[in-house]
Amino acid sequence: MQLLQNKVREEGIVLNGQVLKVDSFLNHQMDPVLMKEVGREFTRLFQGENITRVLTIESSGIAPGIMTALELEVPLIFARKQKSLTLREDIYVEKVYSFTKQESNEITVSKKFIHPGDRVLIIDDFLANGEAAFGLARIVEQAGAEVAGIGIVIEKAFQPGGRLLAEAGYRVESLVRIAALDNGVVTFA
Ligand code: 5GP
Repeated sequence: MQLLQNKVREEGIVLNGQVLKVDSFLNHQMDPVLMKEVGREFTRLFQGENITRVLTIESSGIAPGIMTALELEVPLIFARKQKSLTLREDIYVEKVYSFTKQESNEITVSKKFIHPGDRVLIIDDFLANGEAAFGLARIVEQAGAEVAGIGIVIEKAFQPGGRLLAEAGYRVESLVRIAALDNGVVTFA
C-alpha cells in the first residue's frame, strides 16, 4: 500500500535495529484518512471470506480495526490487556509476551462477543514475533470460531512472526513489509 509506505518512510523513526516508532499516524496521534484507506484495503483483501467479526488488541490495533469493521459492517472486539474484573468463567484468557515491553501480559475477551460459527478477521498494527496474533488466534479457537485471516498494518519481515503464522496455516496479509531497520534506515521488503 503505497500511501502507507510513504508515510512510514517520511515519518517513521527507527528506535534501535528492531523497533519502529510511528506515533505521528498510528501509535499516538492517528491519521483517520490513512486509517480509512487501511480499512478499505483490508476489506478488499479479505472480500469473500464471510467475516462476521474483527478482533484486535488494545490500544494501537483499535484504529485500523474499527475502520476495517466499519467497511465490513461487522462488530469490532478489542482484547483487553488488563485482567478483567468480571468472573474468570466469563472471559477467554491467553498469555502474550510483549515484544516492545519485554513482559508477559494476559489478554482477555468476553465470551459474550465471539461464538462458534464466527469467522474472525484478526487485525493488528505491527507483526514482529507473532505473539499477539497467535494469542488472538487462540482466543478465537477457544470460542469454537474460525480465524478467517490476519491483517497487519506493518510487518517487520526480518522477525519470524509472518513465517510462523503462515506455517501454522493462517492467511496473513500485511499492508507494508519491512526488510530491515539497520542504521536507522527503513528498508522495505
Ligand atoms: P509480536 O506480538 O508480533 O511479537 O509484536 C507485535 C506487537 O508488538 C504489536 O501489537 C505492537 O503493538 C508491538 N510491536 C512490535 N514491534 C513493534 C514496532 O517496531 N513498533 C511498534 N510501534 N510496535 C511494535
